[in-house]
Amino acid sequence: MESIEHLIGGKKTSEAGGRLGPVFNPATGIQIADVALASADEISKAIEIADSAFSEWSSRTPINRARVMYRYKQLLEKHAEELAELVSREHGKTLPDALGSVQRGIEVVEFACGIPQLLKGEYSSSVGSDVDSYNTRKPLGVCVGITPFNFPAMVPLWMFPIALACGNTFILKPSEKDPSCPFRMVELAHEAGVPPGALNVVNGDKEAVDALLADSRVKAVSFVGSSPIAEYVYHLGTANNKRVQALGGAKNHMIVMPDADSNRTVDALVGSAFGSAGERCMAISVAVCVGDETANRIRDDLITATSKLKIGPYTDPEADYGPVNTKHQLDKIIGYVEKGEQEGAKLVADGRGVSLQGYEGGYFLGPCIFDHVTTDMTIYQEEIFGPVLSIVRASEYGEALRMANEHPLGNGAAIFTNNGGVARHFVDHAQVGMVGVNVPIPVPVASHSFGGWKGSLFGDHAMHGPEGVRFYTKLKTATITWPDGENAGPEFSIPVLS
Ligand code: NAD
Repeated sequence: MESIEHLIGGKKTSEAGGRLGPVFNPATGIQIADVALASADEISKAIEIADSAFSEWSSRTPINRARVMYRYKQLLEKHAEELAELVSREHGKTLPDALGSVQRGIEVVEFACGIPQLLKGEYSSSVGSDVDSYNTRKPLGVCVGITPFNFPAMVPLWMFPIALACGNTFILKPSEKDPSCPFRMVELAHEAGVPPGALNVVNGDKEAVDALLADSRVKAVSFVGSSPIAEYVYHLGTANNKRVQALGGAKNHMIVMPDADSNRTVDALVGSAFGSAGERCMAISVAVCVGDETANRIRDDLITATSKLKIGPYTDPEADYGPVNTKHQLDKIIGYVEKGEQEGAKLVADGRGVSLQGYEGGYFLGPCIFDHVTTDMTIYQEEIFGPVLSIVRASEYGEALRMANEHPLGNGAAIFTNNGGVARHFVDHAQVGMVGVNVPIPVPVASHSFGGWKGSLFGDHAMHGPEGVRFYTKLKTATITWPDGENAGPEFSIPVLS
């Protein structure tokens, strides 16, 4: 069986006799690898290496680092299919979906190639008599990325290309459930010219995360994962004087207005609720239908559309989506389906009991749709993170908006309508970080920034785009004069502008 180690200073390493975690192929349920789980000592060594690489990397010119990023983009493109296969094998998502996520990550590297433009400061001539002022943005030092299982290529690429292009060094702690793709992406970054010590991978679990959060040499932490862990990482990291951006879970609502185009709405709901087995932080998990006629029509069309979906392993080119990632996750989702029934929601499509020939041990679950879900139910309140869609009925737009806004999570939300006035009101008033109008999964492109509101983001900065550059740099402002007149002697009162 394959063993996945850490990659520290460019060397594959792991402690003899150290803890190991299992990595499964979710389509078969068979363990395919062991991954080393770093101890606090191994974390300390990785931080030492990243810290000592900072001086050389940060003193390079921004264009030198951007050229490395450009070579990296080319290498990622060349290896995109290999990376997608690594994602699919350990995550379970279909190959086209995995390839799409690699491509969205490459777009962040493309953005990083232009970072010299964003590191430029602002200049003011003559802020005082013979005094000029300018500011620049400087790197922070060692930055850390802790990432979830559901996007093992894209989410790490939201982080380290931006941090590196800004002059920081980096330690990536990917999900221990699908660690092969991030490991390979870091090898490729070294091949592109990132110094080995400037980008490191440590595999691990809570022990590794806690050691990273405790060490004063780590200056900033980017986290993506579930909300309880995001909140924990935010509090522990900031208590230890680090910058932290911690993105959490989601319960994304789609409001369906009576005038929305039925076919487009149903297609959008099917793709966004069930694509990647619902394991996307921007998946739509709640459809708020305005009016009973809208709800009945959308429900019936959804039942028909989802009955035609093909669930299969990533090796099946016809599969619409694959298994969920772990047995634990499968059991948890089925637990939510049972809870929904107990609490009185109407299960109108039941995906339980799927068994695929040759893949009997896989973690497959067909589409589950609940109608008549109400806001007091557990399946409405909690993130399920699986192929389960809840239909909630609202009597009018205001009630639908209120529901979305009162939910404690605020990652994304969408509205489907042909009414520009309602859509504009929604964009202005939805209490979420990312809104879509007739776009079900409004994931910002790399030159904008990704992040939610409320319990979906702890911290002040979203990821990548201009917010990412602000997060990974600190501001320095210079005030400069070259006096050529008489020395006026010491000044005891605060100087004011004249
Ligand atoms: P998770 O919170 O279980 O794990 C995320 C990371 O935290 C992993 O690297 C894991 O090793 C580490 N971790 C787990 N438990 C820990 C603990 N007790 N202490 C310290 N570290 C710990 O999340 P997951 O199951 O890997 O990913 C799914 C979650 O991520 C979902 O909630 C999903 O919505 C969320 N997500 C959010 C976004 C976003 O942009 N907001 C994007 C992708 C995924």
